[in-house]
This record gives sequence, C-alpha cells and structure tokens, in this order.
Amino acid sequence: MKVSELFMPTLKETPSDAEIESHKLMLRSGFMRQLSSGIYVYLPLGYRVLRKIENIVREEMDKSGAQEVHMSALMPKELWEESGRWAVFGPEMFRVKDRNEREYCLGPTHEEAFTYIVRNEISSYRDLPKILYQIQTKFRDERRPRFGVMRCREFTMKDAYSFDVDEKGLDISYKKMYDAYVRIFKRCGLDVKIVEADTGAMGGASSHEFMVPSSVGEAEIAYCKACGYAANLEKAECLDEPIENNEELKEKQEVYTPNVRTIEELVSFLGIDSTRFVKTMIYKADNKFVAVLVRGDREVNETKLKNLLKATDLELASAEDVEKITGAKVGFAGPIGLSINVYADNEVKYLKNFVVGANKTDYHIKNVNLSDFKVTKFADLRNITQDDLCPKCCSQKVTIERGIEVGHIFKLGTKYTQAFNCVYTDEKGEKKLMIMGCYGIGINRTAAAIIEQMHDEDGIIWPITVAPYEVIIVPVNVKDENQNRIAFEIYENLQRNGVEVLIDDRDERAGVKFKDADLIGIPFRVTVGKKISEGKLEIRNRRTKESFEVEIEKAIEVVI
Ligand code: ATP
Ligand code: MG
Ligand code: MG
Ligand code: MG
Repeated sequence: MKVSELFMPTLKETPSDAEIESHKLMLRSGFMRQLSSGIYVYLPLGYRVLRKIENIVREEMDKSGAQEVHMSALMPKELWEESGRWAVFGPEMFRVKDRNEREYCLGPTHEEAFTYIVRNEISSYRDLPKILYQIQTKFRDERRPRFGVMRCREFTMKDAYSFDVDEKGLDISYKKMYDAYVRIFKRCGLDVKIVEADTGAMGGASSHEFMVPSSVGEAEIAYCKACGYAANLEKAECLDEPIENNEELKEKQEVYTPNVRTIEELVSFLGIDSTRFVKTMIYKADNKFVAVLVRGDREVNETKLKNLLKATDLELASAEDVEKITGAKVGFAGPIGLSINVYADNEVKYLKNFVVGANKTDYHIKNVNLSDFKVTKFADLRNITQDDLCPKCCSQKVTIERGIEVGHIFKLGTKYTQAFNCVYTDEKGEKKLMIMGCYGIGINRTAAAIIEQMHDEDGIIWPITVAPYEVIIVPVNVKDENQNRIAFEIYENLQRNGVEVLIDDRDERAGVKFKDADLIGIPFRVTVGKKISEGKLEIRNRRTKESFEVEIEKAIEVVI
C-alpha cells in the first residue's frame, strides 16, 4: 500500500478528551474516530489490527475444535423472556421496536440465541459435545462509556458456548478454551494474568478472567507472589479474624441451632445471601441434588482436617461414601471451603450426618452435623485488602494491582439449558439437561490493551502478529529517482514474498515520515536514503529502536 493513497488521517495534537494512552494513540494514528459516546468507526489501519486479532482468535478457536457460526445481533424479546433476562438485564440492554410495536434487543451477549439453536437442533448424546463460537458486534449501553474502545457501547466480541453431556465434559471443554485463550493472548504479544473470577462456590474456580496488568484497568486483582493465587478483587475473599469462644459466639450458636425440615427453612436458617457469619449458597441440579455450601473456611487443609477429626468422633469419608451419600462425584460440587452436601428430593431428608469436605479426594468427612461447624468455624468472609495474607498459602501478603479484563471464561452449568429445556437423550434413552460453558474475548479492548502495554513517547509499538503492516519503506527523498526506484523494487519484492508492506511515497520531509511510521507502530522501517550510493540502506526495529545497515540485495532476506 502506498502511504500517499492510504486513508490515514493522523493528528499532530493529542485530542483533549482522550484520557489514556491507547485512546490518544488510536485517535492520533488515524486508526479510528468517535461517532458518538462509546461508538467508534475503524479506519483502514485500525480495522486491519482488529482483523488480525480476530484471525488469531479464529485460528486458535478452530484449532481447539470450536466451530464458527454467526448469530443475529437483533433478537426478539420472547427469546430473552424465556431465560428471564429481558426483565433483569436492565438499562445496559439496548431495546428497539419494529413497525408493529414488537420488541427486540441488540444483543449484549448471546447465551439465549445459542441455547435456543442447540435446543432445537441437537437431541442426542451422539451429537455432543459441541463448542460453537462467533465473532459478533455486541451492544451494551454502558453507564460510563470511556477510555475509547476499552469500554464502548458497540464492540466486537468473540463469544463461544460449549454444550456437554456432563460436568466432566464441561471440564474438558473449559480446559480447551482456557488453553486456547493462553495461546491467543500470547500470540497477541500480551502479558496476561489469569485470575479466579469466582470464589468457586461450585467446586474450584468456575470462572477465570484474563487480565492485562495496567494502571488504567478498571478491575482490581489480588494475587500472591508465593503460590500464584490470583483473583478478581470483587470476588477475592478472606476470613476475618476468627471469633473465639466468647459471648458473641454463644449467641451465634443459639441463633444457628438447626430446627429445619424443608429446603426453604434451611435456606432461611442459613441466611443465604448474607455475608454475615458464614456465606452460604444452595445449588440445585435436576431438582435432585442439593448442595448447601457453608463456606466457613477457604480450604480444608490437612492439619485442620486432622484436628477436626481428633476433636470430634467424625470419620473420614471415602470417595465412594461421598458418592453414595450425596449422589455427587467428588469434585463435582466440592467448594473451596467446607461444604455440607444434602441429598434430597426437594426436601431435606438428612439434617444430620452430612458429608463435608473440600474439592479433593480424601478431604471429606462424614457424619458431620451443623453443630460441628459452630465450634470450629466462626468468621466472617470479607473482601481482601492489601494488608491481608494470601488466603490460599497464608505465607505472605497479597499484592493488589489494576488490570484490564480482556477475556472471561465461565462454567454456566445448567442455568440456560434449564430455562430453555435444552436436553439430550443419553445412552439409556433418558432425557438430561446439557451442561454449558461460555467464553468471551473483547476484540477492540484487546487492541487497546496491547497499546497500553506497548507504546512509548513516539507512538504505538505493535507486535508483528497484530501490526497493521509489518514493514514500512521510507524513501528519504522521493524526488531522487534512484531512491525511489530502489524503494519500489524492495516494496514489490516484499509484497511478492507475502510481507505486508507500506511505502511512504509522499513528498514530505524524512522527519515527518519517520514520525508517522513510529506513531502508527510499524515493527520494521526500511530507510532508502543517500547510503544507496554505497549500496546500503537502513533497517530499524521500532521496538528496540536499533538500526543497522544492510546491503540492498540482502534487504529482503533480512526483513523476512
Ligand atoms: P467489564 O467487567 O469490563 O464490564 P464484562 O465482565 O461485563 O466486562 P463480559 O460480559 O465478561 O464483560 O464480556 C466478555 C469480554 O468482552 C470482556 O472480557 C471484555 O474483553 C469485552 N467487553 C465487555 N464489555 C465491553 C465494552 N463495553 N467495551 C469493549 N469490550 C467489552
Ligand atoms: Mg460489564
Ligand atoms: Mg467483568
Ligand atoms: Mg466478564
């Protein structure tokens, strides 16, 4: 591409409304323009970067076995009523009416559409598992669109959805997506921190976010340099100081003396949604298995477990015991903290002799009663601060820093398949709910995050994998016939060799062209100047700022 013909409206001045570097640089380099608050259009260079990122995402998704489809952005209200989200999504959802007053939304996400299609088209275990994805425009009426394409109201997301026959299948699909994300962000040249985005009430972390550490990130991450623990600060919790055997404790014991017959009573007894005392949660699948998670502690470590056994007449439960009593495989509903698993058909049959444990084999004990917890675990769960020890290894204080959420993967379970009655028939002819996962990457936000991580005072430093062009050739003086001829020869040669190359054939001062080349961040600059009389030209690396001279004939080889 000739720069003289390129639509690249660069700006000399920094736009006053842009607060962060990526926003400023994307405007200054003529990559994009704002049309309205949180709404942007992409010009040729910017659009090439987005397409490069999309292609990396597409290649890695395809490699993982996911299949690309394309849903509509416009979706009928009825679809969203089926999941109940029409009512709960709130003002972030753009809603529109057609000429007949029928209501629609502009998709902020696509769980409904995917579940609907899979429900209609897949009915047998033989057709599972499936991972489907799309690269699609999303609309969210963000309360505070800001920072350019970092948080906008119309953006491109790669969103994938997995459908499996069981939890084990979901684990496999989830791992595939996790690994694909690691490869994607690596290829984009990004340094990402993978954090738990959910404290794992349903058995280990059921959600991870891919965060680019950056002071302009809107999320906060807590992590431990010693053991690698990392979590979104919104979700990271630790135990408050345990309350010793005092009056307050006694009071609480009384309050928590169980006298419960039904699940409803149990829910109210445990104080679901209460952050006081212990956090609790109920999980229900197939209307059969109910796990009540009393998260009194983060993890049952061996010493704590032994002490608990010594202090009581509790027994260690084998994996088979757990399965027999709870109907759940170890690892299925095991939370990070202690859990009480109650097996019931809509009614709590056994309010004593629970199995409790962590999400690990050999870390369960049986014949536990609610009262056992009261004497051993009494502490509030609260959000972590920088003064807290790592909740996992306790060996040092957590570090807190800001990050940009570029990707998010999530084990959904049966949340949507239940709402849509998305079932399959298993080998025995029984109908079962499919188990889902969902996986998103913000394409535009990823581009902005790359700039945040890689820029200097002169402009953007694109990694070659996502750069709009790989090489820019700058004839210093286009009026010099020799310089021009050699520059174009190299240009055409590189093009023939599949290199994405720009030639700055504008009749401008060399300094202007160098500045622009640096601003738009092309990884290699080939300068064709006076040195051609000695048969030489200069190649400069944008990132290291190193330049070296090469023989004209060798220029192509070196660049390739
Ligand atoms: P955030 O916490 O920043 O609001 P989110 O958790 O709402 O993001 P998800 O629903 O998890 O976002 O969507 C998946 C991905 O889509 C995010 O990880 C992010 O990369 C991208 N994304 C979400 N909202 C926006 C937005 N308003 N503008 C640009 N990209 C976005
Ligand atoms: Mg959001
Ligand atoms: Mg988020
Ligand atoms: Mg998210």
